[in-house]
Amino acid sequence: MQLLMAANWKMNKTRAEAVDTLNRLDTLLSNLGADRECVVFAPFTALAACAETLGGNGRARISLGGQNCYPAKDGAFTGECSPAMLLDAGCAWVLTGHSERRAILGESDAFIGKKTAFALENGLKVVFCIGETLEERDSGQLAAVLERQMREGLAGVGDAISAPRLPELLAVAYEPVWAIGTGRVAGPKEIVEAHTLVRSFLNQRFPAQGKDLRILYGGSVKSENAGEIIRLDNVNGVLVGGASLQAESFSRIALA
Ligand code: PEP
Repeated sequence: MQLLMAANWKMNKTRAEAVDTLNRLDTLLSNLGADRECVVFAPFTALAACAETLGGNGRARISLGGQNCYPAKDGAFTGECSPAMLLDAGCAWVLTGHSERRAILGESDAFIGKKTAFALENGLKVVFCIGETLEERDSGQLAAVLERQMREGLAGVGDAISAPRLPELLAVAYEPVWAIGTGRVAGPKEIVEAHTLVRSFLNQRFPAQGKDLRILYGGSVKSENAGEIIRLDNVNGVLVGGASLQAESFSRIALA
């Protein structure tokens, strides 16, 4: 299975900064193996410039993604961006369900489910994020929370897209909220436990493809811990925030 190494730049970088980071990243990843796929989730304002930087030179080591989309083709949705707009800006991917959008923007499981299905139906690949808060973990709700987020977040997917291609189009990122941006990475036991739960849900939900869907880990991944994390059972890549902002540190992770 090809590992998916994903960078989430969040609300960082002007166009010039994004292009500079991407150019350096592309050079640093010149010997990226065929067993790795890289995607950069850049801010909306830098997407077209990033696409030109990559596409202009015919380079395909890195794909682009948007950090959000709205589940409608067009219309009166001020501040939002449709899947067609992301495709037009050069994106292949979109993120859904990120914990910052759940917590800060108040996105519900049902709304995230609509976005995930709509994005897939409209030609984008999706990294769908899930993860528990510390309170939920400490009160024994890990399995219930992940199960609810996946059940509702993936509710429309079966009908939305052609089943055989699902493993190429959809990845699930397990990102414990308490490990995002905190420097506190989940331990190997915690990661394997959660990824095993995710895999068994996916196997039930998608009997033919569940075993081939990629499950990424996210939460304070750095070059120092990436190698160990990607070799754990049922870990098929990483989603990286802070350590993806510098080309040098993200390249070390992508090549780990
Ligand atoms: C993220 O935003 O998805 C993330 C995992 O952030 P960080 O790597 O900074 O914890």
